[in-house]
Amino acid sequence: MELSREAIVEGLQRILGPEHVVTDEEVLRQRSIDNFRKLESIFGVHTLPPPAAVAMVGSTEDVAAVLAFADEHGVNVVPRTGGTATEGGLETHVPDSVVVDGSRMSSILAVDAYDMQATVQCGVPLQALEDAARAVGLTTGHSPQSKPVAHLGGLVATRSIGQFSTLYGGIEDLVVGLEAVFPGGHVTRIKNVPRRAAGPDVRHVVIGNEGALCFITEVTVKLFPYMPENNAYLGWTLKSMRHGFEVLREVMVAGYKPSVARLYDPEDGGIHFSRFAAGDDCVLLFMAEGNRGIAEATAAGIAEIVARHPECVPVEARLIQEWFEDLTWGPDKIAAEDERIRTTRNVNRTTEVSAGWSTIHAIYEAAVTRIRAEIPGITVLGGHSSHSYVNGTNMYFNYFYDLGDVPPEEEATRIYLPIVAIICEETLARGGSIVHHHGIGKARAPWVRDEYGSSYLILERLKRAFDPTGVMNRGTIIPS
Ligand SMILES: Cc1cc2nc3c(=O)[nH]c(=O)nc-3n(C[C@H](O)[C@H](O)[C@H](O)COP(=O)(O)OP(=O)(O)OC[C@H]3O[C@@H](n4cnc5c(N)ncnc54)[C@H](O)[C@@H]3O)c2cc1C
Repeated sequence: MELSREAIVEGLQRILGPEHVVTDEEVLRQRSIDNFRKLESIFGVHTLPPPAAVAMVGSTEDVAAVLAFADEHGVNVVPRTGGTATEGGLETHVPDSVVVDGSRMSSILAVDAYDMQATVQCGVPLQALEDAARAVGLTTGHSPQSKPVAHLGGLVATRSIGQFSTLYGGIEDLVVGLEAVFPGGHVTRIKNVPRRAAGPDVRHVVIGNEGALCFITEVTVKLFPYMPENNAYLGWTLKSMRHGFEVLREVMVAGYKPSVARLYDPEDGGIHFSRFAAGDDCVLLFMAEGNRGIAEATAAGIAEIVARHPECVPVEARLIQEWFEDLTWGPDKIAAEDERIRTTRNVNRTTEVSAGWSTIHAIYEAAVTRIRAEIPGITVLGGHSSHSYVNGTNMYFNYFYDLGDVPPEEEATRIYLPIVAIICEETLARGGSIVHHHGIGKARAPWVRDEYGSSYLILERLKRAFDPTGVMNRGTIIPS
């Protein structure tokens, strides 16, 4: 029998104690959404059913008990840590859902400078772990722009990626082992070893599950020596994105591993580089880091490749460094951006995809052309590539539009999603992936079958096997 809202709250209070069960109505409204419907929060117009409660779990045992309770009574669970999700993964579409919030689980359990790995609870902000690592001369190598606010649980759950990914990889390359709780309360631990070939690598069932399969309670990640004194910055302007992708490809194919490799188009670049870039300039930039010999050789090798392209005009390294040092987004920048949207009704959104070198430029051009033709009110439309691989790269579309007479609570579905649809269609048509790093959430779930093709079977069976009663974050990744 379905439990009433009151019975859900009472059940949670019995498990966690009343002080750890939040029922304040304003908090519940805020917890019904994430950045996908951020305009609802900015303009105070909430449309989704608020959760019954936020369960502030403090331990793995708490998580196990809450998931067992939810499974027994068919209560939908929405896992949460830092709350910076952008794709609707935190939305509570099912009435009387329970948000399971791991932000109280915020202990750094070990920073092991010999085995070069750190173990943390899911609610540790990445910045806190990075500070602890730097205190002993190390770094996590993970630096998403949301580093000050995102937590390790969410970062693993979304397959996040950081600005230095071209050297260190995404979170999937950094996670050594972890602990997670599956529906019904089963606690599972994947041990920490440098590599394994003992059958499929089950870490990847957990990494990227977006709370739709399990709740991640503990994570162990790699650490690396931190040597910022060796950082080398390089930048160029050039006139064509097609050409920029060619140069970027040459660098990657030649085997260089800069920590940062980016290519901006003129509109996106105009937001960042007006100090040195003209209105029609693309900007190509790199950062090399690590051991001095490696950083110097990487910078010299990249400079040699770019020098073969006379249309690339060098930019002073200092200007690239100054821009780079102000790139992360903490609470102040997020609040200022929300205020800008509230006062101007001009909205900034992003969508990231990936594809092989042979198709990425065509995807970029086709999507930009269609968005300009089909979506009214666009004020800025551009993008950049920020994560490159030997076989391709990502494209991060960055766009602004005026709300016009669209009510704020309809912006996500009437303007944002149609733009996402264009980007997804143009990417899928050319064999790319519709998500490079923000996750599927609920926003991009309509395209998940096309994204997976015949491998959708594996995804669907995973969901059925691990969440047979369908209580884990319904509608996230797998459309409901
Ligand atoms: C300003 C800004 C900049 C950003 N920059 C980047 C970037 O550079 N790179 C990048 O990859 N992303 C970026 N993001 C997106 C976002 O920060 C990442 O997706 C991040 O990994 C989310 O972590 P979180 O702790 O905030 O998770 P949350 O927002 O709390 O949750 C995200 C998703 O994971 C699930 N989840 C959360 N915790 C758990 C858990 N313990 N167990 C299981 N599931 C869980 C949730 O249900 C949800 O589906 C940015 C977002 C913002 C707002």
